[in-house]
Amino acid sequence: MKYFVTFFLLLCLFLPQFAAAQLSRQEIKIAKAIDSRSAAALELLKISVNINSGTMNFEGVKEVGALYMEELSKLGFETKWSPGEAFDRAGHLTAVHKGKGKGKKILLIGHLDTVFETDSKFQSWSMLNDSVIKGPGVSDMKGGDVIIILAMQALHDAGLLEELTIEIIMTGDEELSGDPIALSKKDLKDAALRADIALGFEDGDGIPNHALVSRRGATEWTLTVKGNAAHSSQIFTDAVGNGAIYEAARILQAFYDSLSKEENLTFSPGIIGGGGQVSIDPLTNSVMASGKSNIVASDVIVKGDLRAVSTEQLEKARKIMSDIIAKNYPQTSAIIDFGDGGYPPMTLTDGNKKLLEAYSKASMDLGFGVVTAVPPRKAGAADISFVAEEVEMALDGLGIAGADGHTINETANLNYLTIDAKRVAVLMARLGR
Ligand SMILES: [Zn+2]
Repeated sequence: MKYFVTFFLLLCLFLPQFAAAQLSRQEIKIAKAIDSRSAAALELLKISVNINSGTMNFEGVKEVGALYMEELSKLGFETKWSPGEAFDRAGHLTAVHKGKGKGKKILLIGHLDTVFETDSKFQSWSMLNDSVIKGPGVSDMKGGDVIIILAMQALHDAGLLEELTIEIIMTGDEELSGDPIALSKKDLKDAALRADIALGFEDGDGIPNHALVSRRGATEWTLTVKGNAAHSSQIFTDAVGNGAIYEAARILQAFYDSLSKEENLTFSPGIIGGGGQVSIDPLTNSVMASGKSNIVASDVIVKGDLRAVSTEQLEKARKIMSDIIAKNYPQTSAIIDFGDGGYPPMTLTDGNKKLLEAYSKASMDLGFGVVTAVPPRKAGAADISFVAEEVEMALDGLGIAGADGHTINETANLNYLTIDAKRVAVLMARLGR
């Protein structure tokens, strides 16, 4: 027993080194390069967090982009600012590296904007203790952007970058997408068509050893219901029917009865107006409804969202909702418009699962432990959703672990700047082979 305990203790003692032995000589070089560049990376993060880049502060977004472009240019990336006038945003950073190797082509996704505009009181970087940084966009997602740069620097220093074909897109409008959305996401989608693999550096759910293989999409719907305007005393007669409000109630109840048990699907009516006259302001989403207690209502408008975990689930839900709408109460009609905007789902695929396994293997080989998937209900929509369908494999949430994103208490754990950069650089070295 004693020998066994001693053996066990020895094993524990040597476990990190044992794990490091799983790395090739070049991979060890990558890890060392990241350590030697970590102070400069932290400084780059600090400078960029202190530049306001709220989505609508175009100059700030471009300034952060210029800062990152300079770093990528030094490594031999062809960098370019892709202008955003056509969709009323700052634009995007694009950087391309054509490698000599025949490995997988990799797309890396970041964003330069934050939710904190120039009028926010949250504008600057501070250290809460040795490892926790507080700052606007520090985890969502300037931390992820700097991880991309640090990983590229390490691959460069280890002599591996020249083999790899990599495209980097850092969008300027992830937090408030430009309009039309098709133009806003065009650079991303075009890059996805050229890539085999997409890696997203959003911050995930804040748990360091989590990554995302699936994200729910977020789309909207508008339900418009019509009935016969009449005196209330005539409701339910053949001529007048049930009115628009009963019909809207029937539809919403049927949505609930048919779909509320679907796993990972949600649909929420967020705003409703009904009466004799109804209008909705598309900019402010405020509803104006007028009527009386003694009328049969002629109009209802309902707006809501629909979040699904796969394209298949989204289409199935839309079909069920459309079927429900077609079974009208007497003398009523209804239409539902699903719009063309919104974020598509990032569907769970075998490719995405394999990519997570490879990332987790890299993490374990580095001595950082297993990485598992975030449950999709905990993951909102992100830019990777626009490219996931076009690539063989996609993985998101590779950014720095943090907390309280989108609030003035946003933080990041600086230890994960190097840990995350090492994991992804080793993964890319393996994928690019
Ligand atoms: Zn983000």
